[in-house]
Amino acid sequence: MRVQFWGGVRSVTGTMHLLQVNGFQVLLDCGLYQGNRKKAFEINRNFPFDARHIDAVLLSHAHIDHSGNLPSLVKAGFRGKIYATSATRDLDALMLLDSAHIHESDVAYVNRRRRKQGKHLFEPLYTQVDAMATLNHFACIEYNQTFEPIPGLTAHFLDAGHILGSAIIVMDVNDNGQRGRIVFSGDIGRRGLPILRDPQVADRADFLIMESTYGNRLHESADEAKEALRETAQSVYDRHAKLIIPSFAVGRTQEVVYRLNQLWEEHALPPIDVFVDSPLAVNVTEVFRLHPECYDTEMLDAMLQETDRDPLGFRHLSYIRHAEKSKRLNTLTTPAIIISASGMCEAGRILHHLKNNIEDPSTIVLFVGFQAENTLGRKLLDGQDPVPIFGEQYSVKATIQRAEGYSAHADRTELLEWASRIQEKGTLKCLFLVHGEEESSFALAKALEQQGISPVEVPQRGQTFELKLES
Ligand SMILES: [Zn+2]
Ligand SMILES: [Zn+2]
Repeated sequence: MRVQFWGGVRSVTGTMHLLQVNGFQVLLDCGLYQGNRKKAFEINRNFPFDARHIDAVLLSHAHIDHSGNLPSLVKAGFRGKIYATSATRDLDALMLLDSAHIHESDVAYVNRRRRKQGKHLFEPLYTQVDAMATLNHFACIEYNQTFEPIPGLTAHFLDAGHILGSAIIVMDVNDNGQRGRIVFSGDIGRRGLPILRDPQVADRADFLIMESTYGNRLHESADEAKEALRETAQSVYDRHAKLIIPSFAVGRTQEVVYRLNQLWEEHALPPIDVFVDSPLAVNVTEVFRLHPECYDTEMLDAMLQETDRDPLGFRHLSYIRHAEKSKRLNTLTTPAIIISASGMCEAGRILHHLKNNIEDPSTIVLFVGFQAENTLGRKLLDGQDPVPIFGEQYSVKATIQRAEGYSAHADRTELLEWASRIQEKGTLKCLFLVHGEEESSFALAKALEQQGISPVEVPQRGQTFELKLES
């Protein structure tokens, strides 16, 4: 048995690992590589293997860095099944189409210029038609249900507590009597995240492929995140101002809404209007409502309360799909909280809200998520002034804040604990650290080694490892 690491190693983008077992080939995730446009296109378009010879995909969760290149795989001739939880499938029905739409409009924009210059035109990486075709390959498997994607490999999903439907993938291999267990963590969530259950731990593993996003960082507590939200909401209400929250459509928006709802139920929130202004975020919230099997007891209890019933909505909260209603927010004269995507302010309606409010000194912009380099969100956080929005410069008069305590990933302590509970079983032969910037992966590798786990590998792109099974 062999594992080959093709993406999401020494980086957090484009997760893709290839498992060769019993003469079959299984792909763990098929994420979109994001970064420099030309390099990204090359990497995403050209698979380092023949897609027609991949027998199955096991998918950890719907985030685009894990599932976003599936349409390219199908386009390249993949014929097998994509195994995922039903919540992951339903989220991907929205996200792959949204991703395809972004590819199509990006290329259309570039091609307009190229046509004028008489240059040859580009094709999108994949289209909405490709994304729809991909959905036909999904086979839904619930948590703790055993399935056999290829002969000699049985698998089951554990709850990863990272986003709705996210899974840890446990694989038991039997290669002519030689046996072994491989566990792929996917992205590991945090304990105490609202809505979702806490991450589970596999009861043992011979080989562990584990994420290391925050291998060198600790998070603030979730209570601090809630308190920051309360204070800021009160402050804009008192000053008759606007609070703009750029937020990822999947997970973070629902988390912020859930906390606002909690504050409302606790009578800790002023009667301020709250708008979720992002069609994708609104649709994703509907998918959340369809999957109570993924909820933790706190969420289920909240739903059973006579007074609340809907933890993702309250009297002052409106979800906005239509552009017309979104535009009406521009002329709003009352204090308001506007939650909009994209989370890093790269596209979407958030840009209109920033454009309209950033020059108003009473506005607060509150960041609740990670801001990658070179994004507008990062520029604002770094104090850049003026900033470009839709090609024009705007001076930053609004107050820019960051709320700590929001993260869907385990931090360093939680990762070390999670690994140590698998280590305790005494069967671990090798741990591979993936899904982290080099600095973070190596810092965690060192800590794991000090904890007595050996060897810990931080693979490079394209590196292959032989996994020795035992009879
Ligand atoms: Zn993720
Ligand atoms: Zn990820």
